[in-house]
Amino acid sequence: MKTAADRILNFSAGPATLPEPVLQQAQQDLWNINESGIGICEHSHRGPVFDNIINEAVDNCRQVGSIPDDFEILFLQGGATLQFSMLAMNFLGEGQTANYLDTGVWTTKAIKEAKKLGNVHLAFDGSMTNYDHCPSEEELTLAKGAAYLHFCSNNTIYGTRFTFVPKSDSPVICDMSSDMFSRSIDWDSYDMVYAGAQKNLGPSGTVLVVLRKTMLDKCSDNLPLMLNYNAIAKKGSMLNTPPTFGIYLMGEVFKWILEEGGLGGIEARNEHKAGMIYHALDSKSDFYTTFARECCRSRMNISFKTNTPELDAKFLEESAKLGMSGLKGHRNLGGLRASIYNAFPEEGCARFAEFIETFAANH
Ligand SMILES: *Cc1c(COP(=O)(O)O)cnc(C)c1O
Repeated sequence: MKTAADRILNFSAGPATLPEPVLQQAQQDLWNINESGIGICEHSHRGPVFDNIINEAVDNCRQVGSIPDDFEILFLQGGATLQFSMLAMNFLGEGQTANYLDTGVWTTKAIKEAKKLGNVHLAFDGSMTNYDHCPSEEELTLAKGAAYLHFCSNNTIYGTRFTFVPKSDSPVICDMSSDMFSRSIDWDSYDMVYAGAQKNLGPSGTVLVVLRKTMLDKCSDNLPLMLNYNAIAKKGSMLNTPPTFGIYLMGEVFKWILEEGGLGGIEARNEHKAGMIYHALDSKSDFYTTFARECCRSRMNISFKTNTPELDAKFLEESAKLGMSGLKGHRNLGGLRASIYNAFPEEGCARFAEFIETFAANH
């Protein structure tokens, strides 16, 4: 079996690094899971082996997130992007208005989809400051009596994050794709959260949706079955053949989080990991610029640049020689970006911080 030493330090924004013990277990389970003589991708979703896997995944998900019993846990497909439309189909009724906070590329896409289905009130427009921060409570202009409020807790491209949950007189829905289970979640403040798996939880395509059970009463029977949260919840995420491998792998990641000390342990480590990198960048502030305002620096995605595009290119070239990959900034923003989700090793962050300082000293 290959060891960690064979692997590249993968700073990709998504699909991204997964925990090594999970990948090694998955290698075995693809061949033969739980001594059933059949691999995970070959088991019927109606049999006892998969029943056990999905039930355990739900239980471990609840335990990891301290998710209260009045929330439903669903495993869906179509990526986080399908949720942009699906949540509006279910919760934005005709003639209703929803509050949206625009804090970057992903929320802009969510807004575009919602506008096809109902009225959108832009309660914060981050484009005015080129998305360099998440708003404070004072910067929000929420419409009253809205169907819901939608925001994104961590902006993957710009490297900004919310440090509070906006208060609203309507249900609060959050896209947590890039920071799900990287820190604790105050469930009293939310009615639905969702996350595409490929940043922090598992393979792309699968989506984790956690929603308050009272929200299910709002889903219209006229919706296509596969786009109806209530219909899916009634069948325990198995309205049709579910993404069995994705659910299995997320379940393994949940177990790994529990072994790592749960969200408390993960959050402390994420603070430390991001801290090392920000510290290195700040110590060479005449050489590097971080994109996000200090108030809202993401612990998952660090977007920054050197003083020139030529040096950015050189940074990529030299870091690649040290086995570091995925550091090119998003095409909308340019520059550089280090994505360091839960499974990205602490030691890798230390090596990267050192490289940041050495590179600045050498150039
Ligand atoms: C990656 C990402 C998405 C899109 O996820 P897909 O699974 O590709 O649809 C949406 N929102 C955020 C915040 C993301 O980081």
